[in-house]
Amino acid sequence: MERMASHYRKSGGRWLGSGILRGMGVTLKNWIGSYFDPSRLVTVCYPGERLPLPENSRSFPFLIYDGDDPEAGLRCVACRICEKECPPECIHIENERDENGKPRKRPAVFDIDISVCMSCQICVEVCPFDAIEMDQIYAISTNARFEPLRLHKEQLLKPNEYFRELSPTRSAAADARREAERAKQAKKKEAGKKG
Ligand code: SF4
Ligand code: SF4
Repeated sequence: MERMASHYRKSGGRWLGSGILRGMGVTLKNWIGSYFDPSRLVTVCYPGERLPLPENSRSFPFLIYDGDDPEAGLRCVACRICEKECPPECIHIENERDENGKPRKRPAVFDIDISVCMSCQICVEVCPFDAIEMDQIYAISTNARFEPLRLHKEQLLKPNEYFRELSPTRSAAADARREAERAKQAKKKEAGKKG
């Protein structure tokens, strides 16, 4: 009895094993709480269930188009800046050509090899036309090494509404930039008519 009292005094007024009991109490509380409080359910049954991703999370780039027609609304003008700046050189662009072979300001080919892409977002930062953005797709692994991971223009094209849902903050900033640019061009045109 004297030894127990001495241990009680040395451990700052805690009985031997009380920590274990407190720990078990926390476990019990969480276990019972998990039947009533969804926030205590920390296990997500992936892939059936998925946690919402933070707005700034990113995986691979995609191309944005405006309106309903991906080809007509394509923002990319095939300036190839992103292709030049991409550190692992995983973007491949070929311009459309007119009947005389002169390059048009549109990509005939726009491929991204996502087996090489390192999701750095540099292509997005350097694009002067807000034509390319980062997606949040993941779990797209495949056994094949090459073709399925080379995404072509048709697979990369997504409407601006998709971007708005994916990233309301970044898309609002991009929309505002584009609107300001449109207003500037309209003003310039108006001034040109008067002059
Ligand atoms: S995210 Fe980076 S690595 Fe991927 S395509 Fe863009 S620039 Fe290249
Ligand atoms: S995505 Fe942007 S930077 Fe890349 S080619 Fe198109 S317009 Fe130029």
